[in-house]
Amino acid sequence: MTETPQRPVVVPRGGLCENCIHSVKIVSDRGSVFYRCERALSDSSYEKYPRLPVLACRGYEEAAEA
Ligand code: SF4
Repeated sequence: MTETPQRPVVVPRGGLCENCIHSVKIVSDRGSVFYRCERALSDSSYEKYPRLPVLACRGYEEAAEA
């Protein structure tokens, strides 16, 4: 039996928030990147500033590519 080589899984730094229509990217003066979740404005079950990377989220909606 031959083993299939495993490829490294590349996770974007922000995870799903990087490509979600409900996120707003914020860059601090020091260059740190945050994502504010706009769903948190109307639904308290979402964190306003989720811990990154977000790997699973029921509210994720893919943003259209520019
Ligand atoms: S809905 Fe989920 S994936 Fe989208 S911005 Fe909020 S936390 Fe991130």
